[in-house]
Amino acid sequence: KKIIVAIDGHSSTGKSTVAKQLAKALGYIYVDTGAMYRAVSLYAMRAGFIDESHFDTEALENDLSKINLKFEISPKTGLAEVLLNGENIEQEIRTLAVSRHVSKIAAVSSVRRKLVEQQQKMGVDKGIVMDGRDIGTVVFPKAELKLFMTATAKDRAERRFIELSDRGEDVTYEDVLKNVVNRDHIDSTRKDSPLRKAGDAIKIDNSNLTLEEQFDQILQLAKI
Ligand code: C5P
Repeated sequence: KKIIVAIDGHSSTGKSTVAKQLAKALGYIYVDTGAMYRAVSLYAMRAGFIDESHFDTEALENDLSKINLKFEISPKTGLAEVLLNGENIEQEIRTLAVSRHVSKIAAVSSVRRKLVEQQQKMGVDKGIVMDGRDIGTVVFPKAELKLFMTATAKDRAERRFIELSDRGEDVTYEDVLKNVVNRDHIDSTRKDSPLRKAGDAIKIDNSNLTLEEQFDQILQLAKI
């Protein structure tokens, strides 16, 4: 029987790594909901609706119907990549610049409503692993398996710093740490669907686990 797996947690806890592995092992579709919020952020940045010093929420809300998000399977990786009005923006949405704004964008209720609705439609046929911040609490409160991933801010920032540096971004560890802590704060204190562990989610603290150990644990859970 195909199920829905909801994976939530703080920034850079390795949610997407686990989600991708799990989807592959089970033959399921993987959906990265963070990519959707990042895509809306990129749209807002390009339109000049948001920068370091201002955020025109109303302008973004007025444009929401013009923002069309779709997923396309990359022939290279076999993974779903998000398209913003037909354009593949996979690389651009992973930058620290987008990370700096995304949590402010994700705190806008009408943005969440639009994306949650689209995410719920993707789960109709089950066989899906979805990661984000509100999947087990809001998007799929009835998901058969819910995981909540956590790790220390230091571990998470280290991981993200290596990732960004490998991609050639000129960032410092301190910048990345600041961003991770800041996003967690905004994500957990926003009014609309704040980041929290669903009551029936299984908590996974991966600070002391290798990726392999962690994945073995999770695969067992998914096969119950
Ligand atoms: O998962 P990722 O770190 O790429 O997500 C980027 C940001 O998008 C998060 O920090 C959060 O502000 C927002 N987000 C959200 N709800 C989700 C997924 C992501 O608010 N389901």
